[in-house]
Amino acid sequence: MTEILARVAPGGTTIEPGFELVEDGLAARIDPARPATVRAYLPAFDQLTTGQATETVREALGHLQAFGLRPIGELRTRLVDEADWATAWQEHFHVLHVGRRLVIKPGWRRHSRTGDEVVIDLDPGMAFGTGLHPTTRLCLVALEARADRGPLGRVLDVGCGSGILSIAAVKLGGTRALGVDIDPIAIEATLANARHNRVGKRVRAREGSTPSDEGPFDTVLANLIAGVLIELAPELANELVPGGTLIGSGIFIDREPDTRRALEAAGLDIVGRRFESDWVALEARRPG
Ligand code: SAH
Repeated sequence: MTEILARVAPGGTTIEPGFELVEDGLAARIDPARPATVRAYLPAFDQLTTGQATETVREALGHLQAFGLRPIGELRTRLVDEADWATAWQEHFHVLHVGRRLVIKPGWRRHSRTGDEVVIDLDPGMAFGTGLHPTTRLCLVALEARADRGPLGRVLDVGCGSGILSIAAVKLGGTRALGVDIDPIAIEATLANARHNRVGKRVRAREGSTPSDEGPFDTVLANLIAGVLIELAPELANELVPGGTLIGSGIFIDREPDTRRALEAAGLDIVGRRFESDWVALEARRPG
């Protein structure tokens, strides 16, 4: 759907997962069972062009409907005042609760931390649209559960992106995290976000991948796609201390068997599995 809308929308598109408002409407909790909303933004100065764009989209969505994927609702259009435009998009970003005590907060939202909550301040665009990607959420939930069972120790975050997992890891008690990514922009983002979250001293990041040459680590996080997890499986296993944990995410469900086989062939035991819609995260342990 984003693809279809993006064709006519120079102003970009956003995807808002289904969510329920909690905490008196101040925060949101994602509910994959609810319908998602895809929005597209286009200039409205020329009614004819906007009208044609709307028709094109309506028709294409009709074709898509025929594939019998998830049901697609009515196409709705609305005029947004230019004056509100600059900040209109901010309304779609809420404080997001993940797992039992993780809270992801866009910079301009307020949130009073309660109990043992762990709050991560992250602006959208860096890591998430209106919600986190399911693969990131799965990783965070697995990481939190792992932290609840014992210290995370030293953490390696392969494909650190915005740095969200590294930041979460040290905030959940990890002593230090090293983020590596093949994309230099990810390194900048990770370092900036770590500083912003006041964990700059405990999170390092540099361009690269495995082998990190800085192992072994107690915990390795790898939210990559299945193909890369499979390719890197032996190196990921090598980064771990005996008894260490790998959390591998980004596995589309049809690649799960291959990914399991690769991790097991690398000498790891699969000890946990989480899924959300078609995405799977696996937790593996190095024996010892
Ligand atoms: N860890 C973040 C980002 C995941 S997106 C999160 O959970 O939200 C995957 C990231 O892996 C991207 O930033 C991409 O640049 C990086 N990546 C892809 N292949 C890689 C590889 N072989 N080694 C290291 N990083 C890789």
